[in-house]
Amino acid sequence: MTTIAENIAGVRQHIQAASNGREVKLLAVSKTFPVESIAEAVRAGQRCFGENYAQEGSAKVEFFKEHYPDIELEWHFIGPLQANKTRLVAEHFQWIESLSRLKIAQRLNEQRPAHMSAINALVEINIDDEESKSGIAPEALSDFLASVSLLPNIQLRGLMCIPKADADETEKRQTFARMKKIFEDCRTKGYAFDTLSMGMSADYEVAIEEGSTLVRVGSAIFGARNYSKS
Ligand SMILES: *Cc1c(COP(=O)(O)O)cnc(C)c1O
Repeated sequence: MTTIAENIAGVRQHIQAASNGREVKLLAVSKTFPVESIAEAVRAGQRCFGENYAQEGSAKVEFFKEHYPDIELEWHFIGPLQANKTRLVAEHFQWIESLSRLKIAQRLNEQRPAHMSAINALVEINIDDEESKSGIAPEALSDFLASVSLLPNIQLRGLMCIPKADADETEKRQTFARMKKIFEDCRTKGYAFDTLSMGMSADYEVAIEEGSTLVRVGSAIFGARNYSKS
């Protein structure tokens, strides 16, 4: 068994090798893992964490604010978000990576506390056109961005995707390349995007080779998730 610190060091090495010196942010996806595991990652120098569930994630944010007040952490909400949970995200997270509904964006905009800066947002794209998946269709992106950019407490920073789970490496590479193209098209249209979130434990190196600027890595850092215990 390797330790969390060793896993982080290993992932960072792989990121370095795949990125050719380009800067790629590592988000440690800590969903279902206890605060002790996150604290271990913090001691190893990790500062950015991803959570999927509003209540679980907010409780962790509170824990670190209380027990580690001098360490500045960056929390990203990366899971599907229901309207009745938006306040928790608006009050605890610096980023939401899974934005894909205007109603959710409007609620986050209204509920963002005045003392916090605008929440950074990535729009999730349903890039493989999966029926079961959240995220918006690439064809709907342009209208969605136009609407969200009117909301002052939401700062659009880029795009996120989760490719089909059963895709092989070649398919994933094509998917990531399509995302990169959409991302660059948005920038050409004038959106000040700097973040393309793609790549997880199984495919982050391929994603980086295709232009990812942020990888979301869970099990390669914290080990296998046990959902029954969470
Ligand atoms: C759980 C999750 C991850 C991390 O997945 P791993 O395969 O454990 O690296 C990344 N992104 C999202 C949106 C997730 O829900």
